[in-house]
Amino acid sequence: MEKRKIGFNKPYLTGKETDYILESVQTRKISGDGIFTKKCHGFFEERYGFEKVLLTTSCTDALEMAAILLEIKPGDEVIAPAYTFVSSVNAFVLRGAKIVFCDSEEGTPNIDVDKIEDLITDKTRAIVVVHYAGIAVNMDPLMEIANRKNIFVVEDAAQSVDSYYKGRPLGSIGHLAAFSFHETKNVISGEGGMLVINDKKFSERAEIIREKGTNRSAFFRGEVDKYGWVDIGSSFLPSDIIAAFLYAQLENLDDIQKKRKHIWEYYYKNLSELSEKGYLRFQEIPDYATNNAHMFYILCRTPGDRSGLIKYLKSKGIDAVFHYLSLNKSKFYKDKNSNNDLKYSDYYTEHLLRLPFYYELTDEDLDYVINNIKNYYLENE
Ligand SMILES: *Cc1c(COP(=O)(O)O)cnc(C)c1O
Repeated sequence: MEKRKIGFNKPYLTGKETDYILESVQTRKISGDGIFTKKCHGFFEERYGFEKVLLTTSCTDALEMAAILLEIKPGDEVIAPAYTFVSSVNAFVLRGAKIVFCDSEEGTPNIDVDKIEDLITDKTRAIVVVHYAGIAVNMDPLMEIANRKNIFVVEDAAQSVDSYYKGRPLGSIGHLAAFSFHETKNVISGEGGMLVINDKKFSERAEIIREKGTNRSAFFRGEVDKYGWVDIGSSFLPSDIIAAFLYAQLENLDDIQKKRKHIWEYYYKNLSELSEKGYLRFQEIPDYATNNAHMFYILCRTPGDRSGLIKYLKSKGIDAVFHYLSLNKSKFYKDKNSNNDLKYSDYYTEHLLRLPFYYELTDEDLDYVINNIKNYYLENE
């Protein structure tokens, strides 16, 4: 096999991004909530039936808005998976909350809904769930617990664009949800994110918090005759230039998803021989979830097997990566944490390996990756 260089991620450009950026620049209104921001809002509200959406500068910022909206304060507890990106919980730590980590399920890295109830105390204010790899958390039993106990649910839907739970779009089920358009996600704007507000009582305040604590949004709609400082807030709205980039991606969402699903299926089909022989495991997709082809990962037999494979692939020019050191074991939180019996979170931390995944991968590139994985197992029988 001729050696190739295959990076882990490569941001895809539809070709319209710079046209729309130019169009936005020519409107001479390039701050937030310009024409492209409105187009993006309309896209999400129409396609997924989201009640209210607001573009933000990142998913991290959308989560920070969620923590402010839920009035999280020192002493409150927030339940979250340990196997996730820091932003899922950092947003709540910034408001003074204590994070109570919950384990992953056996079959997916998602939070184990069956283990949540035992972690609830009279201080629990919110549960954050992450639809890992765009595969839905089991939301019905989760919402039942949350509603019964009067606890808010925030979906960290960073990886979940165009994915569903029992036919309902991810991001539409919790009280609030946060999406990411970081360049490593399915649709991108470099940095970027979105808050989805499913509980109407948060809508007005969300606009205010996003606009530095002012009622400027209501002013621009002509609902108030002057605007001023009415609440806490920050600058969470992106420039319309960012939205112009994003809109070019959204217009091509179906094409992007089709290609990503092809890549996912191709890996799955051609690696199944290795899974049948027991060299590796695939991710599970529960009946209630769809697969939005956000990533393709394998589960290696041992941590040693994983580092051996990473090294082997690297020597062939291929970047495969792992991520998420269980947050309960992070330098920042290990002494503040009270629940350390997180067996499956540790399992995913030590065994999960993500394969190169981006639009421009050709079948030949994929064959190259797949054949090298096969060779590794042949050589290390
Ligand atoms: C990417 C990601 C984030 C952060 O998104 P940003 O837009 O970079 O802030 C948060 N949570 C999860 C699960 C992610 O994958």
